[in-house]
Amino acid sequence: MEVVRNIQLKLDVSEEDHELLDETFEQFRQAAQHVADHGWDDNPYNITDTKNTLHKATYSDVREKLSLQSSLVQSARNLAATALGNCKDRIIEDGETASKPVFKGTVVVYNGRTITYNDNHVSLATTDKRVTAEYVTPVNEDGTPFEDYWTDEWEKAEATLHERDGTYYLHVAVKKEVQPDSSDETSENGVVLGVDLNVDGYLAVTSTGAFLGNADYLNHKRDEYERRRGNLQQTGTRSAHLTIKSIGSRFARWSVDYLHRVSKALVREAIENDCTAIAFENLKHIRKRISNASKFQQWAFRELQRHVEYKAEEYGIDVDDVSPAYTSQQCSHGECGFTHKKNRDGDEFECLKCGKQLHADYNAARNVGWRLVQHWLKSGAERATSQLALESGTLNANGRFRPTALRS
Ligand SMILES: [Zn+2]
Repeated sequence: MEVVRNIQLKLDVSEEDHELLDETFEQFRQAAQHVADHGWDDNPYNITDTKNTLHKATYSDVREKLSLQSSLVQSARNLAATALGNCKDRIIEDGETASKPVFKGTVVVYNGRTITYNDNHVSLATTDKRVTAEYVTPVNEDGTPFEDYWTDEWEKAEATLHERDGTYYLHVAVKKEVQPDSSDETSENGVVLGVDLNVDGYLAVTSTGAFLGNADYLNHKRDEYERRRGNLQQTGTRSAHLTIKSIGSRFARWSVDYLHRVSKALVREAIENDCTAIAFENLKHIRKRISNASKFQQWAFRELQRHVEYKAEEYGIDVDDVSPAYTSQQCSHGECGFTHKKNRDGDEFECLKCGKQLHADYNAARNVGWRLVQHWLKSGAERATSQLALESGTLNANGRFRPTALRS
């Protein structure tokens, strides 16, 4: 399976290069328009959208008229061919109306021959010399630092340059081939990583015994921000208002980054333990369970889970929800499963029936993972070999523990 991510980079283009890029936008527009004019016909069946035919008919004209290099002319032709093809499909196949494509000069399509990527800057072909531009605030839409996708592991595919109010943006598609790990074959032998999320203490605890992130620290940073905002609001001046805005966006960036790092660690934990799925508590139910969960904490859980889903997909790992009812009160040891409010005392879990002692969050994480294994079992016998990943091995659906050392 191929996973594609779209990265948006703001570019720092020097004043003197603006003119050159704007001229490139214009010539690219003219090239694409020339091809669209040629391929268009009011009878949809006569619309030409084959690249080869369009190329033969328009290439030399465009090259003669404009100063675009050959690769950019071909990109413009491809853009026009796709637009013509879309029109044709809309009219003939969908019975809709469509008129001749009109290009507005706000895009240039780049490929391997016309763009060169470097760690902190890019070089772009133009109508004249190449233009170099540095990346500004390179954070992906999702809050993912772009460095995550700026590695050899990800192949940079087509990129498009856009201009908006004098600012230039580069949209780069990066792709990676993911092993077909999430196919039926492995889901039969599913290994689950259970995750318990908390509003205090460790933010996330896994069934493999990983304790990740610090919910208290996250809350503390949030309180600190709220206090500063409160003080500034009392000041009421215009400059105070601007400061509120700036500390607000700084805090937002910081918290997204923090959650991103925790989610990355969670996915790494799943990979290292050969897990095929990650189980979370259903967030809707969590709100009921943790009555003191603030809006901020709910947001943080959602954000964390969203990041995990996003990241896990790249490794063919599924993310699933289970009901969180009594996950913190139930004993996760072997087949015990005894549930009692008094089993738990703060961070300590001690089963009143079998006497098992565990960290309370670790116990909860094991229950969360176990519920997904059970859910799989109920939904089909083919998943009978499903297992829960634990600290030093796995537990299969029959309650049989297999230590890590014995795994192949
Ligand atoms: Zn027990």
